[in-house]
Amino acid sequence: MAGLFGVVSKKRCVDDLFFGTFYNQHRAQSYCGLAVCEDGKLRDYPHKGLARVNFPKERLDRMNGVYGIGSVSVTREPVAELSSSGGMILSVDGNIINREQLKDRILRDGGTFSGYRDPEEVTEAVLVSKIVSKAPTFEKGVENLAELVQGDFSIVALTNDGVYAARGWGRKPLILGRKDGSYAVSSESTAFANTGFDIDRDVEPGEIVFMDEGGIQSVKKLDLSPVKFGTFEWIYTAYPTSVVDGRSVARVRTNIGKALAKRYPVDADVVSPVPNSGRWHATGFAWESGLPYAELFSRFDYSDRSYTPAEQGDREEEARIKLIPNREFIDGQRIVLVDDSIVRGNQMLQQVRRLKELGAEEVHVRVACPPLMKACVYGKSTKRDEDCIARRMPVEEIQEVLDLDSLGFATVDDLEGAIGMDRDRLCLTCWGED
Ligand code: SF4
Repeated sequence: MAGLFGVVSKKRCVDDLFFGTFYNQHRAQSYCGLAVCEDGKLRDYPHKGLARVNFPKERLDRMNGVYGIGSVSVTREPVAELSSSGGMILSVDGNIINREQLKDRILRDGGTFSGYRDPEEVTEAVLVSKIVSKAPTFEKGVENLAELVQGDFSIVALTNDGVYAARGWGRKPLILGRKDGSYAVSSESTAFANTGFDIDRDVEPGEIVFMDEGGIQSVKKLDLSPVKFGTFEWIYTAYPTSVVDGRSVARVRTNIGKALAKRYPVDADVVSPVPNSGRWHATGFAWESGLPYAELFSRFDYSDRSYTPAEQGDREEEARIKLIPNREFIDGQRIVLVDDSIVRGNQMLQQVRRLKELGAEEVHVRVACPPLMKACVYGKSTKRDEDCIARRMPVEEIQEVLDLDSLGFATVDDLEGAIGMDRDRLCLTCWGED
């Protein structure tokens, strides 16, 4: 997981570069980095931790440059590499399934990993940069990458000429923006809202674009198939204010909530999300059902996003820390609790137990996607198939184990309708449908 941003401008771009990167922070929190082209020299500044901590205003004030890229990520990025046409600094949002094969291939072709002491340091971004930088052009490098890689990716890259961006098969979003003489590319359009950019268009799956002072050029379109858009972007990953592949994330979530209310009507007193990611789904459920909406848990603003820790146990601990029940509104209530997904079920069990301990009369759970059956191999949250409770038991048993009065999952039909895209263009791997 990563959030990418790139900008070119006729004037100093550092503030837009920083804030564009910062507004992708929800996509990853372990590392952040900026890279700029300053006086013809490429400079990269990767750091551990959050963007705002590492790049305070006084530091940004000392940085210059009219082109730049930035990223937030789970591994150290951006990565700098000498390329056949000069230097290149790039960041990647993606996952490579055949990493070992690629490493062997790079070594066979005369590449080295001599600067990396720990195999863990040879990340997706390192592998991608080694492959892309070896080719005579960025376009050719991405073409080679697409031939070699199993997985998916989006890339932003800084060279002395400007900023390149490329998108793989579609699971990793990438969108273009513009404002008077400046051009930007971002994982998500929410990064444009407060930086003054207007959405131009999405980078298409297989497309490679180049941005310099002259504007945005589509330099190549690879024929990659099958194109699969990342369904979980709309359900969970993307920020609600983003528009992903032409669909408002908040709108899709309310559509899913409405579909859940139609499919599983329930006689209850209140609809509550599991915040933050259940909010817009719960809003749609409330609109459709006519039930009042209330947040029965407040999310403590200073906790981390719960899926970010690598281990499921740590994620559950983080989930326990971040949600504080609003006991005033729970006692004696029949509650519909709406969440984006259920993986192991432990987080949901914790929340349901707390509601019942605080006097909830009934708890009905509605889930904004079908039962998860498989780990995501493309770099999203679920790491192991065996983490998925739905692999081990049917829905009726999950309801019993979680001590629920009723349980309903959205169906693939609901997702198709809510997103407004045919199922054969949606990645459905984690529901065992691919
Ligand atoms: S497998 Fe699921 S989480 Fe992973 S890219 Fe596909 S839809 Fe997204």
